Amino acid sequence: MDPQLVMLFVIIFCVIMSAYFSATETAFNTFNRIRVKNMAEKGNKKAALVLKLADNYDSLISTILIGNNIVNILASSLATVLFALLIANQEASVTVSTLVMTLVVLTFGEILPKTLAKQFPERFSMFSAPLINFLLIVLTPLSFIFNLLQRLISRIFKAEEDKGMTEEELISIIEEAEEGGGIDEEESTLIRSAIEFGELEVGDIFTPRIDITAVPEDVDKETLAEVFSESGYSRIPVYSGDLDNIIGIVYYKDFFTLSFKESTPISEIMKPVIYVTKKMQVNDLLKDLQEKQLHMAVVSDEYGSTAGIVTLEDVLEEIVGDIWDEHDEIVEEIKQTSEHEYIVSGMASIEKLFEELDIDEEPEEDTSTVNGWAMEVLGRIPEEGDSFEALGLTVRVLKMDGRRIEHLHVLDNRESAGDGDEEKEDD
Ligand code: ATP
Repeated sequence: MDPQLVMLFVIIFCVIMSAYFSATETAFNTFNRIRVKNMAEKGNKKAALVLKLADNYDSLISTILIGNNIVNILASSLATVLFALLIANQEASVTVSTLVMTLVVLTFGEILPKTLAKQFPERFSMFSAPLINFLLIVLTPLSFIFNLLQRLISRIFKAEEDKGMTEEELISIIEEAEEGGGIDEEESTLIRSAIEFGELEVGDIFTPRIDITAVPEDVDKETLAEVFSESGYSRIPVYSGDLDNIIGIVYYKDFFTLSFKESTPISEIMKPVIYVTKKMQVNDLLKDLQEKQLHMAVVSDEYGSTAGIVTLEDVLEEIVGDIWDEHDEIVEEIKQTSEHEYIVSGMASIEKLFEELDIDEEPEEDTSTVNGWAMEVLGRIPEEGDSFEALGLTVRVLKMDGRRIEHLHVLDNRESAGDGDEEKEDD
């Protein structure tokens, strides 16, 4: 066979191998681990091999780079010889060879294969796995030397240790899985709530003092029965003197059993009360309530006064969303009335409102409700008809309930008003 033709075939083979190495590198850098793991669990052997290779990433990348460089250098050297044989002028042949090979290697050996592999990374990593696995074994001595060199360099430059996956990274993986259709919106919300649960404090979820339905210790049975039936609550705190001194909690089942056995006084059927602070982690509260087999805790403020109460349901709602039982009136705290308009309860969580409106802003440390946010922006107790602009929203107080907002109207005019970060009062 004509030696020039042999050379041409070897050059073509080298460019194909160069394409293979480049595509393999991109595929292994971009494939979706969860997807491949699922395939491996279903018995796909190539998927299992991909995972095994990816776990040994340093050796894999050394093998790819060694292979890629060998074929690229070999192709260029052979091309120089080939062009020297074809073109009489030596200088011209070197220039032509360099130009042609740069163009060929760049286009067919790098850009095209990398672009294609990026589009089908899982498929390509599985396709390329057996050969790269074979080369990894063959090139072990060489890649061993390179790995040593790599470790030495990392030690010299003291590369920061991998700190594992952060919470934000985990959440963005879940969001990506949702966008990619791997999990549905409800599953994604559930998983994200469970992850974010660890950051919640009692202050984010408790029912404030103003909303507590409680009775004094000397309450008579008829009044207590009425309180149970009118409020619909299953547990009523009992206080001595005033709300700052809650001494126990009466459970309606115990109470109605007691009513039949007239003799048992309320103080004897009261469940013990535990006090917690607003800063307590909801995680710890859950553990405490479970251990003590209680459903309700009283929240104290820094002065020792009662700030509110918190129940097991308040905790669980943070993971699974609102829970409505048979007696609850369904209240939609953030109700979208048109494309850019919302009716929002003053007691709605400000974080949830910002989340719903995609506002990337952290509320002030002490502000947990929409009511608190409006008070903070206005700098005083709101009044019906007040309106203000903040974060590109026009907010108008619709109805007050005493000194707090019952409902307000939110107009989201960010598209028309740019990002509107200014906060100005206008009432
Ligand atoms: P259950 O569902 O066990 O019958 P419940 O409906 O009375 O109890 P929870 O489900 O524990 O009450 O809580 C529902 C909401 O009502 C929570 O936000 C909780 O903080 C609040 N809540 C419960 N009891 C009282 C009460 N006595 N006064 C004010 N708010 C209460």
